[in-house]
Amino acid sequence: MHTKHHLLFLHRLAHLAALGVMLVGVVVLVGWFNHLPVLYRVEHDLPLMTPGAAVSFVFTGAALFLLQPEKTSLLRRIMGRLLAIGGVVLGLLMLLSSWHSIPDALLGHGLTPLTWLNLSDAKDSPQTGIAFILTCTGLFFLSLERQSLINVAQWAAFFSVMLLVAVFFGYAHQEDMFKVFTGEAGMALPTATAFALVGLGIILAKVEKGFFRIMASNASGGLVVRRVMFLMALFPPLLGWLPILLEHGTLTHTQVESLLASGMVMVIVLIVIRLAYQLDQEESLREQAQHEAVQHQTDLEQMVRLNTMGEMASGIAHELNQPLAAVANYASACQRILQSDGATARLQEPLQAIQQQALRASEIIRHLRALVRKQPPHKVMACLEQVIHEALHLSKTGTSKLNVPLLLELDADVPDISLDIIQIQQVILNIVQNARDAMQDTPSNCRQILVRSFVNQEGFVQVDISDTGSGMDEELKQRVFDAFVTTKGAHGMGIGLSLCRSIIEAHGGRLWVESEPGQGATFSFTLPVT
Ligand code: ADP
Repeated sequence: MHTKHHLLFLHRLAHLAALGVMLVGVVVLVGWFNHLPVLYRVEHDLPLMTPGAAVSFVFTGAALFLLQPEKTSLLRRIMGRLLAIGGVVLGLLMLLSSWHSIPDALLGHGLTPLTWLNLSDAKDSPQTGIAFILTCTGLFFLSLERQSLINVAQWAAFFSVMLLVAVFFGYAHQEDMFKVFTGEAGMALPTATAFALVGLGIILAKVEKGFFRIMASNASGGLVVRRVMFLMALFPPLLGWLPILLEHGTLTHTQVESLLASGMVMVIVLIVIRLAYQLDQEESLREQAQHEAVQHQTDLEQMVRLNTMGEMASGIAHELNQPLAAVANYASACQRILQSDGATARLQEPLQAIQQQALRASEIIRHLRALVRKQPPHKVMACLEQVIHEALHLSKTGTSKLNVPLLLELDADVPDISLDIIQIQQVILNIVQNARDAMQDTPSNCRQILVRSFVNQEGFVQVDISDTGSGMDEELKQRVFDAFVTTKGAHGMGIGLSLCRSIIEAHGGRLWVESEPGQGATFSFTLPVT
């Protein structure tokens, strides 16, 4: 999982790398035009960057810039590809011009970038030409948006950056490592730097699509890789440049190198310690979040049980009240008859007891009803979208084995509203569970639950939960919110929807259903905006 934030940061770095490459190319060209060797050679006895290579870097940097992911308009892609192809062509020309066995006549005068620019007769090593061809092919691959090709480009860039590390180390140690990989002409410091920037840019431009995607992750792994990678990436160029730039001071190459290495070790130690703290903190935050989630689920389950019991008791009370009242009435009627008939007075006593017991039972039930009457909702201002997300998350951890895709269309304009979070989640959970149950016989590729939330025309917040299940006929639709109405036999209690309706009504909203047999069902509820 990568976060947009980290990804954006890495893409920005790729942008900067592209600009950096172009800048190096332009600076070197300025050096050639104005006869400032320091700009293309750094020091008199070091390898130089030819104007041809500088032009190629301007091409390469521009291609990398245009092929950045955020602005992938067709025009940009085409221009980026053309520039990448241009870079390949320049690389080829460089390769041919360095190939002495090819007669000049074959190439024609003015064909190679060097003679064309007519700034010097310095030649690039064939290796530099090959590096340009490979780099620009990598850039071209990057623009094709194919996962496998992007991976190839990233790996190629990674290995070429590793080779450049050897070149930088060569500069640091005053060894001709810059010639080992790049031939007799050697690789100039600006050239190695520009190639390193292109490599970094290629890896980062589409970092989320290849092996290096862990860098964009917000998990601990991503954090470690990002920190350490950047430090490591900075070390070789610094090692190459600093000894040369500081040489005129009092420090020798080796002294600068030792200072840099000790600075580096210090920074690495500090980074590792900070990382350890950060990871530790993340770990405890994660544990806390986990603990809270478990606690929330336990609360919800307990509340569901309590509310269900309450609703059940209330239903029983409602159902039993009438027959008990009838018993009482009949008993008193018997009494009256017996009185008028002058029947045996011995019946008086038990009949009176019947009446008293029935009345008592009725009284007890009335008490019970009062006792378990649902608590008024404990309302707080809450974000409905979050409430829905949490409820749906909990619904996945429920008992249902059915794997049903959940689709969400949650309107971002829905304002925060005052509600009892647990009760509303119970309503959503219940409706979603019923929807799952109703899709047992639906073919698995047709199963789907859609949850929508929006502000309706009356100004109420409305939540629709639709399924593609069995639906219900007119008769069931009329009774579905009554207590003890279930079609699930021993598996159902028929309490859920009646409880949902009382919760929604206690919130000042409405709950209803629209459905046709075989066409699925949509349960909708509204909540007032406070
Ligand atoms: P229970 O789930 O215990 O049966 P409920 O009150 O939650 O109790 O549901 C009552 C009845 O409503 C269910 O038995 C079922 O027949 C019907 N029902 C609920 N939701 C749906 C749905 N999405 N599609 C079809 N029938 C449904």
